[in-house]
Amino acid sequence: MKHIDPVCGMIVKEETAKVTFEYNGKTYYFCSDFCFEEFKKNPEKYLKEGPDKNAMNKMEKQGM
Ligand SMILES: [Zn+2]
Repeated sequence: MKHIDPVCGMIVKEETAKVTFEYNGKTYYFCSDFCFEEFKKNPEKYLKEGPDKNAMNKMEKQGM
């Protein structure tokens, strides 16, 4: 099954997801620790507004 990383919007496969996290009874899949950390900082923002296009840029700057 494929899932959307709620932070960067990437498609993450269940078997290759770097991090899985349960929030409000739903499981979310993340492509990297970076996205997971971002989500934890402000989960409601990503759930309400959807993926942040800047997340990818930030990730690249950190060399991930
Ligand atoms: Zn991501």
